[in-house]
Amino acid sequence: MSARILDGNKMAAEIRAEVAAAARALAASGIRPGLAVVLVGNNPASEVYVRGKVKSTEEVGLYSEKHTPPATATTAELLDLVHDLNRRDEIDGILVQLPLPPQVDAKKVLLAVDPAKDVDGFHPMNVGYLSTQRPGLVPCTPAGVIEILKRSGIAIAGQEAVVVGRSDIVGKPVAMLLLNDNATVTVCHSKTRDLPGVCRRADILVAAIGRAGMVTREFVKPGATVIDVGINRITDRADFDRFFPASQAANKKREETFLAKGSTLVGDVHPEVAEIAGAITPVPGGVGPLTIAMLMANTVKAAKLRRAARVVQSI
Ligand code: NAP
Repeated sequence: MSARILDGNKMAAEIRAEVAAAARALAASGIRPGLAVVLVGNNPASEVYVRGKVKSTEEVGLYSEKHTPPATATTAELLDLVHDLNRRDEIDGILVQLPLPPQVDAKKVLLAVDPAKDVDGFHPMNVGYLSTQRPGLVPCTPAGVIEILKRSGIAIAGQEAVVVGRSDIVGKPVAMLLLNDNATVTVCHSKTRDLPGVCRRADILVAAIGRAGMVTREFVKPGATVIDVGINRITDRADFDRFFPASQAANKKREETFLAKGSTLVGDVHPEVAEIAGAITPVPGGVGPLTIAMLMANTVKAAKLRRAARVVQSI
């Protein structure tokens, strides 16, 4: 039996519609949530991400502005910019797009962002709020993982959850969110013994590794929910054939795209897992779309938390 596909595009559209409604309600009390995005230099991938973020912001009716310091920018110049954005009342969210150029002390710049405007949820203050279950800003991709589970009616409380990956931006916050929702959580990493065996205990398995198709069917308990955070670009024909055999009709369209573009995106979960999982997120179209939607939601949340005294009770 094949798994239920958890449609991230559909859920992201729902969230964007909710954010747009919240933005309209805030506008009625004179508040337009604002996001400032800082893009340093000319990293092509970062430019694509930032373009998507700014476009999405405008679509849901939030204010946005883009700052583009040159690749030669110094730590001091970026700190000045962040301090200036911290001071401006109409800016609710500040997003510093990573990576920063090598001469910049990235940690120092991220630490300078006012925690109340830290829509990426990376500031140690927000990390602390998350682990102590206080209101704060939660990293977008992990928040998106939880939204997918909840909007799909998948129970979290009391379930065995296994998270593969312990990065500060994905693995650890996902694990903390699952724990806060009363799952029994195991966090795995590159030193975990018998990884497939540990993963097979999971009712909910989250893969945030960065290795194409590493999670194969032997990692998965039949019927488990599998959330694939990984985004890996493959360009090699042999890799393509390994993940998407020509014998399966469903792979025809992807093959056409692969041949036209010379690449395709694969998650950390091998597509064969869809044959035994109960529910699974696709790549692309699973967790990815939720990340930008949650950035929009975080910008509105930041506006409400910071400007709460000026927001009418009904919102
Ligand atoms: P990361 O910082 O490189 O962390 C990877 C984690 O995977 C580490 O904890 C590492 O363990 C673990 N790992 C690596 N190889 C392993 C192995 N063979 N067995 C077990 N664990 C292993 O990556 P990340 O930033 O968390 O991102 C993970 C993936 O999610 C990437 O594909 C990234 O592109 C994707 N991502 C997607 C979104 C989205 O919007 N969908 C957002 C962010 C990231 P150690 O700690 O022991 O090294």
